[in-house]
Amino acid sequence: MILIQFQEDLPVPKPGPGQVQLSMQEVGICGSDVHYWTHGRIGDFIVKAPMVLGHEASGIVSELGQGVTSLKVGDRVAIEPGVPCRMCNYCKTGRYNLCLDMKFCATPPYHGNLARYYVHDADFCFKLPDHVSLEEGALLEPLSVGVHATNRAGVGLGSTVLICGAGPIGLVNILTAKAKGASVVCVTDIDESRLQKAKELGADYTVKVTSRDAQQTAQLVEEAMGEKPDITIECSGAPSSLQTAIYATKSGGVVVLVGLGQEHVEMPVVNAGVREVDIRGIFRYVNCYPTALAMVASGKVNVKPLITHKFKLEESIKAFEAAKRGEGIKIMITCTRN
Ligand code: NAD
Ligand code: ZN
Repeated sequence: MILIQFQEDLPVPKPGPGQVQLSMQEVGICGSDVHYWTHGRIGDFIVKAPMVLGHEASGIVSELGQGVTSLKVGDRVAIEPGVPCRMCNYCKTGRYNLCLDMKFCATPPYHGNLARYYVHDADFCFKLPDHVSLEEGALLEPLSVGVHATNRAGVGLGSTVLICGAGPIGLVNILTAKAKGASVVCVTDIDESRLQKAKELGADYTVKVTSRDAQQTAQLVEEAMGEKPDITIECSGAPSSLQTAIYATKSGGVVVLVGLGQEHVEMPVVNAGVREVDIRGIFRYVNCYPTALAMVASGKVNVKPLITHKFKLEESIKAFEAAKRGEGIKIMITCTRN
């Protein structure tokens, strides 16, 4: 039902007023792309017609729409994939990620940008300095999730932070927590190779989860860190890990829910309530691309180690199969012809 379409099959889109046409360059595969590809839906977002996947992307401006002055042809840009309505109260109060009229790449019914050409609103394209690669530009998407999650968590100088799950999203949270001055970062996962990657990216401690007993895992975290963390950022979505996040966090601390799994999960709410542990959600990111870009451009954050696989657009099926098998960390697809 879902096709990965190639530009050969599609008309080259023309930019409307305020938009740019982009010659697509690098596109990372996200877990949600794989989920739409294999299941055809995520919650209430159901794929009803063939949809182009991809939303972690960079491109080169190939044509300007009417009125665009912020960019010129040839500019290399990172693409923030969601364009909100700009009119509603959420948009006007600066929380556009909550806009109900969001048009988000590869969230049905909107096409993604795993294609040769794509058209996007110019103000959601961020010009990359010459020394920032197109791959790094694509990785600003997951990095922005880390920027937003650590913002919502209130990570600052000296914070002690637990990150549950060391997939791409847990890993970018290590980078942003460290960059914001966290003094100690501990990471949990069930997979040893992912914990190894977490260490490479700066985790001070890792805890391998071997049991569904959330209190036992929380105890292991406390032993590793020497005390309970101020902040826990849950990036696995696994029910037992959500429970661990609450038990592990210091009284008066914060748990941020990044991982999205089952709709209903049993949670130790009394424990959270009587210990004043705040539980906060996050949805994607808001006003985070400029920060993510500044961190990469200044060298304060290095996202390059996240990339483990590279494919060409023509090999997209192979790339998605590798992603489905859970290989590596970030799989990148190059959309140019050579
Ligand atoms: P991923 O599947 O690659 O990573 C999840 C990691 O959690 C894996 O390494 C897995 O081994 C580990 N894990 C599984 N069970 C665990 C447990 N019990 N304890 C500790 N670790 C465990 O996914 P990802 O791309 O890194 O994304 C992580 C989550 O974040 C997903 O649920 C995704 O849907 C969600 N997400 C949310 C937002 C948002 O806006 N809220 C944005 C992006 C991703
Ligand atoms: Zn809006």
